[in-house]
Amino acid sequence: MIAQILFIALSTVAGYFFIKNLGKIRRNILLGRDIDLSDNKALRWKTMLKVAFGQTKMAARPIPFILHFIVYAGFILINIEVLEILIDGIFGTHRALSFLGGIYDAAIGFFEILAFGVLVACIFFLSRRYILKLARFQSPELKGFANQDAATILFVEIILMAALLKMNAADQILQSRGADHYHLAGSFPISSWLVVPIFEGLNLSDSMLILIEKAAWWFHIIGIFLFMNYLPFSKHFHVILAFPNTYYSNLKAKGELNNMASVTQEVKLMLDPSATAPEGYQAPTSFGVKDVTDLTWKNLMDAYSCTECGRCTSSCPQNQTGKLLSPRKIMMDTRDRLEEVGKNIDANSGTFVADNKTLHSYISEEELWACNTCNACVEACPININPMEIIVEMRRYKVMEESAAPASINSMFSNMENNQAPWQFSPMDRANWTQELNS
Ligand code: SF4
Ligand code: SF4
Repeated sequence: MIAQILFIALSTVAGYFFIKNLGKIRRNILLGRDIDLSDNKALRWKTMLKVAFGQTKMAARPIPFILHFIVYAGFILINIEVLEILIDGIFGTHRALSFLGGIYDAAIGFFEILAFGVLVACIFFLSRRYILKLARFQSPELKGFANQDAATILFVEIILMAALLKMNAADQILQSRGADHYHLAGSFPISSWLVVPIFEGLNLSDSMLILIEKAAWWFHIIGIFLFMNYLPFSKHFHVILAFPNTYYSNLKAKGELNNMASVTQEVKLMLDPSATAPEGYQAPTSFGVKDVTDLTWKNLMDAYSCTECGRCTSSCPQNQTGKLLSPRKIMMDTRDRLEEVGKNIDANSGTFVADNKTLHSYISEEELWACNTCNACVEACPININPMEIIVEMRRYKVMEESAAPASINSMFSNMENNQAPWQFSPMDRANWTQELNS
């Protein structure tokens, strides 16, 4: 009974904090500008199923794709077992779903195989990051928390899967000995091969096995509660946000830039004296993006969804040629600034108090102007994140609000204004080349 009360209290506290932190992330995302992405629902569902559920964009790199798919399937499917753990924890039962008979046995066996796959995949991911030192995991933006975060997630997954296998091994020995409470249930293809021989070699008593089984059970469930509450602070939050984020993907043609409807409208009103503004039209008060609140909620959702995998950065031609630009850093900076704004709002009773910082305090002009808008980062991203859009909007702010473009671009702008072309030639000279044809 005490164990049941403790379990209910723990799950209530874990659930409370998880929902509270989800609420904060939702609030932060909604600090962004509104954008209507409610169109074309059928295509949106299809994109989500293909890109998030089917992980089709991961397939460009087959080995990580297969291993990531195992971890992802493990995360989704093994957590079905948590349902049983919750029932057992609340009602004090043991393997409450075992009444499903053969289906249950097959499911437990499958979960064991999957758990072993997750364990192997996580060891591979750790080696790739810390032993093979893959270039895309050595970028400066991954120093500090980002690096610790990746290691923590992989270690926790290994420990959780090991606890599951240990729990099953102790359980099946107790079942075979006909111990009280441990009725025959489940099939254990991995733990019977990997862990049972160790326990049997140690000649453990029933009471010791019960202690191991209970300890592993509690360790597993407390680990899941802690992991669940760590998620909102980690890049691993993509396991949740990848789905809505791909649903709200940009469905426009690849590389199509938003042409700033507000500017088009203003120009129309200026050039055509008879033009009237659409009903409810409000003249823009600023152009481009100064801070995270000028981005759309979708840009902000992108920032929280980023897995920090670096596929964008490793595909970026500017990064490859040694420029300062890393599209992954753009996403990480956006999330860091958004978190900072959110904390500011929390600390000031729901109102943002100016802190003399903006998104431009995180992302330098050198990074912004290094981008050639090639769209490679967007193409490479496994969950359809768009770092380029943030870069373009921040550049628009620099140009239109601060007149702070690099000299080469400023001269192109004045040529466009004076010569109606990017070059420094008078429009009167445009046809000069035809004179050579006559001679
Ligand atoms: S759009 Fe910009 S950031 Fe993205 S890959 Fe191309 S150059 Fe890099
Ligand atoms: S933006 Fe996409 S590709 Fe780039 S690090 Fe984030 S998840 Fe990976």
